[in-house]
Amino acid sequence: MCAKDIQENSPEPPPEHAIAQLVMGHSSDGIVICGPDRKVLWVNPAFSAQTGYGINDLHGEEPGTILQGPDTDPATARQILIACRQRREVRVDILNYTADGQPFWVDLKITPIFDATGLHTHFISSMRDISDRKNLEQQNDEMRHAEALRQSERQLLALTSEWLYSAKSFDELLMVVQRAMHTLIPEAEGALYIYGAARSTLELATSWGSTPDFQTHMQPDDCWALRRGRAYAYGLKPIQFACDHVKNPATPYFCLPIIAHGETIGLLHIVFEGFEEGGLMRHMREEVLRNRWDVSLICAEQISLAIANVRLRQELHDQSMRDALTGLWNRRWFNDRASKELHHARAEGSEIAMIMFDVDHFKSFNDSYGHDAGDLVLQEVGNLLRTLGEPAAYACRMGGEEFVLLAPNMSGSKAVALADRVRASLSELSLKHAGAALPQITASAGLALYPQDGQSVDELMKAADQALYCAKDHGRNCTVTAQDVPALKAAHLGDGAHDKSAHPVKPGAKTARA
Ligand code: GH3
Ligand code: MG
Ligand code: MG
Repeated sequence: MCAKDIQENSPEPPPEHAIAQLVMGHSSDGIVICGPDRKVLWVNPAFSAQTGYGINDLHGEEPGTILQGPDTDPATARQILIACRQRREVRVDILNYTADGQPFWVDLKITPIFDATGLHTHFISSMRDISDRKNLEQQNDEMRHAEALRQSERQLLALTSEWLYSAKSFDELLMVVQRAMHTLIPEAEGALYIYGAARSTLELATSWGSTPDFQTHMQPDDCWALRRGRAYAYGLKPIQFACDHVKNPATPYFCLPIIAHGETIGLLHIVFEGFEEGGLMRHMREEVLRNRWDVSLICAEQISLAIANVRLRQELHDQSMRDALTGLWNRRWFNDRASKELHHARAEGSEIAMIMFDVDHFKSFNDSYGHDAGDLVLQEVGNLLRTLGEPAAYACRMGGEEFVLLAPNMSGSKAVALADRVRASLSELSLKHAGAALPQITASAGLALYPQDGQSVDELMKAADQALYCAKDHGRNCTVTAQDVPALKAAHLGDGAHDKSAHPVKPGAKTARA
């Protein structure tokens, strides 16, 4: 076959205007032809398929006024308008609306057409539906945004747990909880409840938010989370019941038990004021709540661990500061506390009483009744000092059978009365050990006061010790103040008497006065 044959057998190309019509009729892009006044003259079938508008709907209209809608970016619309006025080509991504109100994204190109003389005759717009691409982009944006949010949440949580773990005391821990919860869940108010000592009620330990208004006490039975033993989210499900401790059952909230060493010790309560049904758009409300639920669960866990940690620290600290036999504060703690109190009293110009007790003839008691019976006596002395001394005084065991009551802001007369009360109660105890009744126990007391008897802990201890020694010298089972010592010593020297009896004396003597 030669070149001539090919030419002869090939069909004639259609005329140019027919080609144009064929292309525009079969294009998958929407095409609109407007006059120089931007009013619609013609639309192709793809445009009608895209938008639902036929030529009769648009003829003589400006396409923008029909196709743009409430969420169309006004800056983009202006950009098109200006380009058309200046007869320039323009290409933008713009949100259009179909005839039945559905938004869709188009890649829009508007080209001005000029004739051979340079006269502006038409605009041709071609529109490609890019909704799929835009939706993907939007999803990616949302995912990136959510990831960034999660990332900052993770950082905040890590920071929070670091602070929670470095809390030295329970009060410090509460302060961290308050600040952290407010930052982590800024749209919520909240409260942390901790079981009271009796474990029958929970007490409000701390709260946060703009106007927190929580019950100061609540019963465990008033909370579904505590009753069911697991975290409870209220406001996300169609059927659910509000807890009795909640003030406004229209508001969504979370209740999360706080558990340390397997034991429920409290409740984290988080309330979303302003998140009532109908307040926010439903999907937004649910999205925020679901996201906050995850964060809240982590917070409850972190707080639980941190409380367990602080308690353990407290226990270890207490163990190093408590006497194992009686449970009273030990000498180390006493020294520390006494110097703090002294510092305070110096600044405030207040008094401190230091009452030193020593069990009388305890050595012979031990020898006669055994060490275990002696221990029982020491425990009873400890109980007495605690019940009669606290909360006005700190009860301490200094070692052996020597005890001290440290009483800030206590006058001399009150301290003497307290010392006599302790001694009287001790002498009235009827103790039994191994089935046998133990004899009467007595103790002597020496009292020193700040500021008159000493300026430092050492000086006060020495003065109290001398007074105690004097009480022993004076026949035991009595109270001597440091102020009485010189006169008592003088009187005693005059008497020549010196009780060195190795047997318990009858508790006759009260406060020894010169
Ligand atoms: P005084 O009336 O002069 O105080 O005579 P005392 O025998 O009580 O004096 P001393 O200080 O000589 O005796 C103290 C005794 O306390 C010696 C020791 O056997 C006893 N003791 C010290 N610590 C303990 C303890 O933890 N348990 C028991 N059971 N006895 C203790
Ligand atoms: Mg002693
Ligand atoms: Mg003694």
